[in-house]
Amino acid sequence: MKATRATAELLSDRPVSALRGAGPKVVERLARLNIRSVQDLLLHLPSRYQDRTRLTPIGALRSGLEAVVEGTVEHCDVEMVPRRTLRATVRDDSGVLHLRFFHFGTALRARLRPGARVRCYGEPRNGFHGLEVIHPELTPIGGPEPVPMEQRLTPVYPVTEGLQQGTLRSLSEQAMDIYRSEGERVLPEGLSRAQLQRLRLPKLADALEGVHRPPATGWHDARVSTENSNVRRFVFEELLAHHLSLRRLRHRVQQRSATPLAGPPTLVDRFLGGLGFPLTGAQERVIREIQLDVSRAVPMMRLLQGDVGCGKTVVATAALLQAVANGRQAAFMAPTELLAEQHYRNLRAWLAPLEVSVVWLAGRLAAAERAQALNDVAEGCAGIVVGTHALFQEKVVFRDLALVVVDEQHRFGVHQRLALREKGRRSGRVPHQLIMTATPIPRTLAMAAYADLDVSVIDELPPGRSPVQTVVVPDRRRSEVIERVSQACRSGRQAYWVCTLIEESEALEAQAAEDAAQTLKEALPDLRIGLAHGRQKPAEREATMAEFKAGTLDVLVATTVIEVGVDVANASLMIIENAERLGLAQLHQLRGRVGRGTIESYCLLMYRGRLSDSARARLEVLRDSNDGFQIAQRDLQLRGPGEVLGIRQTGDLRFRVVDLARDQALLPEVRAVADELLEQHPESVETLLRRWIGDSDRYGEV
Ligand code: ADP
Ligand code: MG
Repeated sequence: MKATRATAELLSDRPVSALRGAGPKVVERLARLNIRSVQDLLLHLPSRYQDRTRLTPIGALRSGLEAVVEGTVEHCDVEMVPRRTLRATVRDDSGVLHLRFFHFGTALRARLRPGARVRCYGEPRNGFHGLEVIHPELTPIGGPEPVPMEQRLTPVYPVTEGLQQGTLRSLSEQAMDIYRSEGERVLPEGLSRAQLQRLRLPKLADALEGVHRPPATGWHDARVSTENSNVRRFVFEELLAHHLSLRRLRHRVQQRSATPLAGPPTLVDRFLGGLGFPLTGAQERVIREIQLDVSRAVPMMRLLQGDVGCGKTVVATAALLQAVANGRQAAFMAPTELLAEQHYRNLRAWLAPLEVSVVWLAGRLAAAERAQALNDVAEGCAGIVVGTHALFQEKVVFRDLALVVVDEQHRFGVHQRLALREKGRRSGRVPHQLIMTATPIPRTLAMAAYADLDVSVIDELPPGRSPVQTVVVPDRRRSEVIERVSQACRSGRQAYWVCTLIEESEALEAQAAEDAAQTLKEALPDLRIGLAHGRQKPAEREATMAEFKAGTLDVLVATTVIEVGVDVANASLMIIENAERLGLAQLHQLRGRVGRGTIESYCLLMYRGRLSDSARARLEVLRDSNDGFQIAQRDLQLRGPGEVLGIRQTGDLRFRVVDLARDQALLPEVRAVADELLEQHPESVETLLRRWIGDSDRYGEV
């Protein structure tokens, strides 16, 4: 075994450029498909198959069904109108097929001279003269040697611009040839016979043949799907590898040490006692879970899930204080400046009586303030530091960072999680880490995306909250909607008017908000209307938000900058424009800005034009439910995991063959097999990680 594992031989280490036909251009285009090694070619599965194994009589052709026919050329002409076109007809005993070419040279015309015998492959369509094929693939068959038919189905691979299907097929065939002759030595199996049997999956060699070169017999479905056990084998493997890499990450972190934050919880108790409300049972339970975690010398890695408004900030603060009580530092990071500011203000108000110093560190601080903040952080006089990503820039040096809380994690990926962890790593210690998300993640998805974390759930809202009543209204009833705003404000409540992305442009969104504010001001001259959007100076926006919070503004017209965290209990009405364009999770998040007090609250989802069926279905999910978990599950079904996790931007969970929405049912089994491999077959773990994640290890340690 050892001698044959010389790494240079593995297909994962052989660049595609070693193959025939893979020049620099092709190599570059392959890289766009994430294909770099010979092994990558084998893992690039077809999206469907063509059946070129049998002949179809021309008379039996059906429009839209690709087929191979053979016949004799009857006519061949070039027409110039409406554009230069080569037309030919081919006849067999059963009928006539028309061929049409727009790009052709003399060679093709020679091949199609009347009387010649040809084999054609293509997709017939109903044309003006009857069935016709545009640009069929032609094989001359008139020669003395018979030209055999294909023995197996022809794979159709996903390609990219400038990369021909034929090129990919040829490269894939070469990769298969190498694998056939060199076998497991260059591409190890990875799963044991017993596991394969239990999972009812084929062994690697069979799966590869079956997926790249399937026999034509017994094939009913030309699509590649996981109902095919060969495909399922790859899907399972990739899920498994992904899961293993997160588990290994977790394992590695657990080998590191953290500062145990035990000690009497007096500071925390004083904080909780001063809040003015009792904790919910769920908050208490989660605070205990966290306290137990951080009391150990192993770094905590916990994900806290809780619906909008369930009171995660209080829980986070209790965790932060646990560090301070031990004479250490803690950091609280939020994805936007606005949200970070709000946390900062909350914490200052809560913690001033306890004489805990809180420092604000964001991108847009003035130079002198920034220098002062950095100094406080480095000297350790800042117990708690609140900010955005700016917290984790190189210049920021903590004296003794023992705990990090990240709010709204769905905007961060595994990489950021890692970078964060490394930040406080001084004298070999790693900070405890608490990650909070208000986008509830369906359980299976959490298993895939957060296998490196423990999970706590706050599944209870503070008492007295009444669910937000949600209504879906067309844009043309805008005047009634404006009347609703007027009523709410006249009865002493406040309202949000949210302008959402019309296109992916902050500028356009800001413009829409400005226009809406103008319209509202004209329609409701006696109301005080403020405006908040991402193009304003932070100070200006902050001032407006503060006024709204203080109740000196009746209506806040805003863009989605208010999506996360903004907390104004007196706001009882939210209008969301272009609601049909947003995802469920985001709408739920926005809607969570109302209904935060005990007053009856409403959310009006406005849409423009006619709603498509799917858009209507999505808005109805929201109308019918206030339960974030239920909404997330529906969102997953309707839009897929990338959207639900908000990971499209971060590049995590980018799979070769897996489609999480489709394949999530495999996850429980994946976890079980992972347990087994980690305990009993470390060499398989290596093989699978090398195959799917690569040597560099996508989430590798720094
Ligand atoms: P989220 O989980 O969405 O971040 P917040 O932490 O912003 O929620 O809390 C929402 C509101 O509920 C805040 O005003 C907070 O002070 C309040 N709150 C938190 N916990 C409780 C509780 N146990 N009882 C009453 N109000 C609470
Ligand atoms: Mg929050």
